[in-house]
Amino acid sequence: MSDLAKSLREKLKVSACIQGLEVISEHKSSDGTIKWLFNVGGGDAVEAVFIPEDDRGTLCISSQAGCAVGCRFCSTGHQGFSRNLKSGEIIAQLWFAEHFLRKHLHRTDRVISNVVMMGMGEPLQNYSELVPALRIMLDDHGYGLSRRRVTVSTSGVVPMMDRLAIDCPVALAVSLHAPNDGLRDNLVPLNRKYPIAELMDACNRYLAHAPRDFITFEYCMLDGVNDQPEHAQQLIELVRRHSSGGVWCKFNLIPFNPFPESGLRRSSAGQVAVFAKMLSDAGIVTTVRKTRGDDIDAACGQLAGDVKDRTRVGERMAQQRSIMLKVVPAGS
Ligand code: SAH
Ligand code: SF4
Repeated sequence: MSDLAKSLREKLKVSACIQGLEVISEHKSSDGTIKWLFNVGGGDAVEAVFIPEDDRGTLCISSQAGCAVGCRFCSTGHQGFSRNLKSGEIIAQLWFAEHFLRKHLHRTDRVISNVVMMGMGEPLQNYSELVPALRIMLDDHGYGLSRRRVTVSTSGVVPMMDRLAIDCPVALAVSLHAPNDGLRDNLVPLNRKYPIAELMDACNRYLAHAPRDFITFEYCMLDGVNDQPEHAQQLIELVRRHSSGGVWCKFNLIPFNPFPESGLRRSSAGQVAVFAKMLSDAGIVTTVRKTRGDDIDAACGQLAGDVKDRTRVGERMAQQRSIMLKVVPAGS
């Protein structure tokens, strides 16, 4: 980079390195979805997934090696937590995928139009590394993506939602998964720290800065756990309580993608349809997420990479699993 001052180049030589991520494996699904496993050193590996659609190409990126939140229905959560990814490691997933796809699809235009922070990890628990990576995605000298096409998905780290609204307001998805605190405490343990009412208030505050005029609530449909008509009714009441008149959220129902350790089952298509209709009839825009890449374990919540659990979250979850299975009768 001869356009940089010689003294700066000397400094960079000893203090910085330019290096892509090493690819451990690559899997292509019959539906065109591609999953990569990247080596991030120290025995950790993280995954990114490209999902082609007719009108866009979405890259799902990881923010951490593992995750410390420990949601019951999430394969990453069951693995425990190793470390936060650096900004460079987050953006390197996009860099790699964009170059790979251009080369293999022989395209000169932009292949990746949307980025979702929905891979491994809780992005808002790695805030200081996340924000610089987001800024590179948005910067015209970087990837030039629109704020509306970059989505951070969070299990509800309330203080960091407020900071993101100021520092880098991109589209926001909130993993709700339950209509009341009792159930959410169990499914998303972070709820004990930031209960639903606080989360709803934070969503309302975020909207004042958001690039879109709605928040997406993700709701993983778990058979017999959170998919009953009374749960839909409670969700409708929850939304009504917290939106003063206007429509300010959309629901995205995600049929649970099973993995062996969870002890949970996917809701039937019929149950998902009834649930979706109840929300829609109440005036809430509701979509059901199409499962993509499940033949290569690339669907939501199936990303597990390879993580050295340094927090014993995974171990604790294994101990609690038997308790959970009593609360949620897995075989019923
Ligand atoms: N930690 C962030 C982002 C990563 S998870 C979050 O929780 O939002 C991305 C999405 O996949 C979340 O909505 C999450 O709840 C959902 N998910 C996790 N495990 C899943 C599974 N087994 N089946 C379907 N969706 C799942
Ligand atoms: Fe972490 Fe998100 Fe998985 Fe929960 S769903 S364990 S927050 S990655």
